[in-house]
Amino acid sequence: MSEWLLIGNALLVDGRGRHDANQHVLVKDGEIVALGGSEVRAQVPRGEKLSEIDATGKTVMPGLIDAHCHMTYGEARTEEEIDLYTSVETRTLRAAHNLKQVLRAGVTSISQPGGSWNIGTALRDAVRDGIVEGPRIATAARYLSSRNSLTDWYPSWIGVPESSIGVLVRNRDEIVDEIRLQVKNGVDFVKVADSPFGEHQAFTYDEMRTATDTAHMLNVGAVIHARGNAEVNAAVRAEFDWIMHGNVMDDETIELLAASKIPLIPTLTLIANWADYGHLFGVPVKLRDPCKRLLEETAEVLHRAHAAGVTLVAGTDSGFSATPYGEWHARELELLQTYAGLSTTEAIKAGTENAGKMVGLEGRVGVLEPGALADLLVIDGDPSTDLKILLDKARIERVILGGVPVDFDDDARAIRHEAAQVMSTGYLTVDMVNGTRDQRNDGPDTSYVSWDEVEALETAYSKRESVR
Ligand SMILES: [Zn+2]
Repeated sequence: MSEWLLIGNALLVDGRGRHDANQHVLVKDGEIVALGGSEVRAQVPRGEKLSEIDATGKTVMPGLIDAHCHMTYGEARTEEEIDLYTSVETRTLRAAHNLKQVLRAGVTSISQPGGSWNIGTALRDAVRDGIVEGPRIATAARYLSSRNSLTDWYPSWIGVPESSIGVLVRNRDEIVDEIRLQVKNGVDFVKVADSPFGEHQAFTYDEMRTATDTAHMLNVGAVIHARGNAEVNAAVRAEFDWIMHGNVMDDETIELLAASKIPLIPTLTLIANWADYGHLFGVPVKLRDPCKRLLEETAEVLHRAHAAGVTLVAGTDSGFSATPYGEWHARELELLQTYAGLSTTEAIKAGTENAGKMVGLEGRVGVLEPGALADLLVIDGDPSTDLKILLDKARIERVILGGVPVDFDDDARAIRHEAAQVMSTGYLTVDMVNGTRDQRNDGPDTSYVSWDEVEALETAYSKRESVR
């Protein structure tokens, strides 16, 4: 006996420009089997169990896919919190809890390009087996890092700890060995980390090629964090399966990327949240300002990339304090309009159909078609006229995962943070207290301080500014 679900009288919206009113979606055992008028109901055999959702006045669209979501970070405020201060056991349990927040926001699949331990593969399997409620997951493990890339943050005499999201690979043999280990442990793809903000190329072309060849030989994907022109250019030639960021690209690199058909996941949300809203949650000016400049440069690059035909995919870098789980996943769609010039339909496609590849379910998720998995949203409003609707959880009335409506009973969230052992974020000088010209401080660093303290710092700083 099959389980049937009929969602009736909906406005159907997808990433292909569909905008059809009064449509019915018929789901059988977790898959869409028919779309159309009320006649689709006749396909349900008499006596089989049929559930119905009346979607009159509502929109039904594919569930969102976040192609860049880090479940092990725990909404971190510091790199140390990502790498050091939380045990693997606690980190795993928190991640399992946080998956529900992501699903509740209408995200029915995520791709995790890197995280600590083997938590990603455990979460993926736990969701698949029904142990944990959450979106479908495809995952990498620890980032393959060089001494000059992301994740080798700490002094050389500390190194990259076992608990870090990265693993140091010092030569091509170590790249091969680490990939073999990660594949043995069940990853869907491996993640290579180039320089944090595109400062330099941290892996040679040959090293990148070793990584992609080894991963592909073992039938897993290989992806890379690459923000600067040199590393994006090398990464395209090394045939990574997708590239994250691509903030700076010259015409040659864009041409190469477009011709390669390798998708690009710009991941604008984290940078934009720091730049646009950093003043609201204590982000230091020294991080906010470079993010603003990076976004300006990125806008010009992504418009050229979009015009050249590069496939763009939505990913948010959720998992930081700037991108808590379940909050900002849909913002990336709007940002792709602003910073890359996508139409609303193209933005929806970037956040649905285009991201199917990153979760290993290309063509089976993110689309409204017979044979697709029934990962669907029922929305109060029409996102194709206003993407902001997708950021409002009150308007995401139902999330349907594999044909089963998700129960929203547990929205509790109060997770303790374990920041680094910060004692202050600036110097206390006599000038600062007296409001006189200060030779040592270059402004308040407002991370990790309370609201009252932020105000006090801002006041002290503006006093000093007026003295200058
Ligand atoms: Zn990331």
